[in-house]
Amino acid sequence: MPGLEQLALQAGRELEDASALEILSWAADTFGERFCVTSSMEDAVVAHLASRARPGVDVVFLDTGYHFPETVGTRDAVAAVMDVRLITLAPRRSVAEQDAEHGPRLHDRDPDLCCALRKVKPLEEGLRAYDAWATGLRRDESPTRAHTPVVGWDARRGKVKVSPIARWTQDDVDTYVAEHGVLTNPLLQDGYASVGCAPCTRRVREGEDVRAGRWAGRAKTECGLHE
Ligand code: SF4
Repeated sequence: MPGLEQLALQAGRELEDASALEILSWAADTFGERFCVTSSMEDAVVAHLASRARPGVDVVFLDTGYHFPETVGTRDAVAAVMDVRLITLAPRRSVAEQDAEHGPRLHDRDPDLCCALRKVKPLEEGLRAYDAWATGLRRDESPTRAHTPVVGWDARRGKVKVSPIARWTQDDVDTYVAEHGVLTNPLLQDGYASVGCAPCTRRVREGEDVRAGRWAGRAKTECGLHE
């Protein structure tokens, strides 16, 4: 499709004030089967919205091999009860194979390399089947996400990147979950405000930033999927 970048930038301007469902409906209508949603299975809000815009929509989950059982369980529940096509992407190497090549607990010694091998590369390969992908990024999550466009250009991958809930707050998410009975990761009720891989995620303490439990104590704040 020619002019994808211009299309993305124009849509970002025109849809800035649109609802999340309108943004996803635009993406689903524009890209059809070349559109997918990615989900960390922290909750299924964007997948739920996307399935309303396009029943049977592809929902892509990155199985790093390091997820909490609750996260894998949430994925399986989403696949069982929602009108989506669940696609699980896996790294080329299992955790055991990675340990053999790089030594154990690479996530402690070089989390950037671990994320590159287990998240960034598999997603890059998995997204080749699509022109546009949707994320659950929100501007209020962290300063690095404060300027997230609702539709933007993912220059690294040459894709349109859709963030339909970019303008939402945590209250908006909670309201949508309650109103629609959306599946959420049980860890959100157990002190985790943001859910990533088990070795790199801890519970947050009172007053901490929502992402304070991710790579806590390390210089890292993002996995590299959204840079
Ligand atoms: Fe590895 Fe941690 Fe990144 Fe998961 S979040 S891929 S365990 S460094």
